[in-house]
Amino acid sequence: MTAWGQIHDLAPELRQRWAAARVWAAHQAPYLATAVLALDPVVVTGETAAPDLRGFPADPDWHVYIDPDVLAGTELPVIGFWLLHQVTHLLRQHAARFPAKAEAPEHAVPSQTRTPQQQRWNLAGDAEINDDLHAGEVAVPAEAVTPADLALPDGWTAEQYWDALSADSKPQVDCGSGADGQQRPWDCGRPGLSEIGKQMLGRDVARRILEHQKQRGDVPEGWQRWAQDVLEPTVNWRRQLAAAVRRGVADVAGRVDFTYRRPSRRAAAVPDVVLPSLRQPLPQVAMVLDTSGSMSDDMLAQALGEVGGVLRSLGLGRRNLRVICCDAQAYEHQRVLDAREVRLSGGGGTDMGQGLAAAGELRPRPDLVIVLTDGHTPWPSRAPEGVRVVVGLMDSEGRSPDWATTVIVGTDRAAGSW
Ligand SMILES: [Zn+2]
Repeated sequence: MTAWGQIHDLAPELRQRWAAARVWAAHQAPYLATAVLALDPVVVTGETAAPDLRGFPADPDWHVYIDPDVLAGTELPVIGFWLLHQVTHLLRQHAARFPAKAEAPEHAVPSQTRTPQQQRWNLAGDAEINDDLHAGEVAVPAEAVTPADLALPDGWTAEQYWDALSADSKPQVDCGSGADGQQRPWDCGRPGLSEIGKQMLGRDVARRILEHQKQRGDVPEGWQRWAQDVLEPTVNWRRQLAAAVRRGVADVAGRVDFTYRRPSRRAAAVPDVVLPSLRQPLPQVAMVLDTSGSMSDDMLAQALGEVGGVLRSLGLGRRNLRVICCDAQAYEHQRVLDAREVRLSGGGGTDMGQGLAAAGELRPRPDLVIVLTDGHTPWPSRAPEGVRVVVGLMDSEGRSPDWATTVIVGTDRAAGSW
């Protein structure tokens, strides 16, 4: 049986070792210190432990899994390396970026039985990470892969390495569900860092990176690019919102598809490309637009235009999209895709719960609901049943619920203000 314990259950010398490894990691890359400290250690004992936990794998909710024997038998700089490595998988959202999600197994699988896609993506993510960990005294352990080991150039994204790798590439170490979003037998299933907590942590780390670079000038390039991506939504919110909508549609389409037939192997690897040619009914999408007084028409038009473009590129037309305007109440839905066509109603108080409820009552019921709001609204305690929700949050002070995927959306005028 697997048992999950806490750090203070360990012998004092192991507790010290863990503390020292975290300090070592924070010292090597001070701009990642808050991320290393945000890791919630879970001590795993029992049959699913060694040798799978050599890399101190994490899960997407920021638990990091520790095998006491591995902790005792690994040199401090190597433990430190893995901590920096795993927070990078998490900060760079490799779990959400896993290109073969539709083909992933439904249940937790041990390291040895991971699919070839999981292993190839682990390797691709590791290559993206490890060329940015050369800084300071960080020594990359022999079992950790670098782009040079793969005879590929430094500085690529995991997606580029994925494309370049052969289908049977295998990493030596399993980086856990934090690297591909697929459950492992050692995952504890406890709630961890919230979605908003993850975003706030990411922004904090990004700010520290730019600050550190300004003062010391020694931050690896990959991290600088990442920080700019996180902090400059005016440049990147379009891409992030598009990615969230695309992922939402792909996941929903995968689910719809699954009830009819297994997607082809090739199709699952390139969900963006294959969607328009699916013969199954396309997913039904609804948008809830916050038309309360605090939202400017300009902001709405920009975000709406972006979402419309993505949906069109996925082959979703008027028949598959309904738009609900909502302030303190939800208005009659409209079937439009062009921002200029939406008749914006409302202007009073705000309650996106009304809009979500109205979306949940549409027939056919939408599979995916995209909410564009400033977040100054109450939210229901869960999503409408069977509906996946993406929130485009147009004010960083606003709130969005944990059960939704949130993208913080800037407007072109708000350049650099947050
Ligand atoms: Zn890794």
